[in-house]
Amino acid sequence: MTGTFHIKENSFWAKLAAKRMKSYKMAMVLGKTVHLYNTDHREFLTNKRWLRHELAHIRQFRQYGWFRFLFLYLVEFIRKGYYMNRFEVEAREAEQDPFLEDQYAFKPNDGQRERGA
Ligand SMILES: [Zn+2]
Repeated sequence: MTGTFHIKENSFWAKLAAKRMKSYKMAMVLGKTVHLYNTDHREFLTNKRWLRHELAHIRQFRQYGWFRFLFLYLVEFIRKGYYMNRFEVEAREAEQDPFLEDQYAFKPNDGQRERGA
């Protein structure tokens, strides 16, 4: 196990990102938290490609540190846009990595715990 992550549903930041990306559903990572908008933790966790993509961003935050990663991401974004920036290329490649989701444990908040679990 490499780390843990949290999920924030109905996130203000994910809502802003959804508007900017003109996307209905949105997931975005800040630190160790996946921020969701118009989706919930069940749908997100069930979609392995989506989960691995966001876990790759969690790994990037950890690898570079909060401030440095946000700075580097912004520089890449300005130079190459969303799709071709190296952090998104890496995250898309990680979607095929079946071991990635085994390295991170989901830490649910009270509303996200399964009944009886
Ligand atoms: Zn991404």
